[in-house]
Amino acid sequence: MSYRCPAGHQQRLATDSGRGRQAHRGALLERIRAELSVQAGREVPILVSSGFRCTTLNAAIGSSATSDHVRALALDFRAPAFGSPLAICQALQPGLERLGIGQIIFEHTWVHVSTRAPASPVNRVLTLAGKNYLPGIVA
Ligand SMILES: [Zn+2]
Repeated sequence: MSYRCPAGHQQRLATDSGRGRQAHRGALLERIRAELSVQAGREVPILVSSGFRCTTLNAAIGSSATSDHVRALALDFRAPAFGSPLAICQALQPGLERLGIGQIIFEHTWVHVSTRAPASPVNRVLTLAGKNYLPGIVA
């Protein structure tokens, strides 16, 4: 299966390695949806704004070449029925291990999660601050 990204590049979704990662990421998304729904006491839909990105699209939007999006490991999402991206980060942070979240970044208008835990534990929970990141969830 393939589709074209907004920049017109062919995206391959069904490479052998990609298929496993898609499934892995999909399972992460379902765990997050279930967790937020339990905490809210009602069904909370997840709105994904970005998943896998080809290297050209990734560069075009100014993202790092080492982004987990290029490796099909990351998702950006919102869940307005639960609350703000800040509220989502605060709700998920205590359960990172249980939920299989390797990294979470509060990006202000959305939440970034990756199945890959960064080499340095301090980078596991971050807040975007300009072009840099601060450790932890910083309101
Ligand atoms: Zn992201």
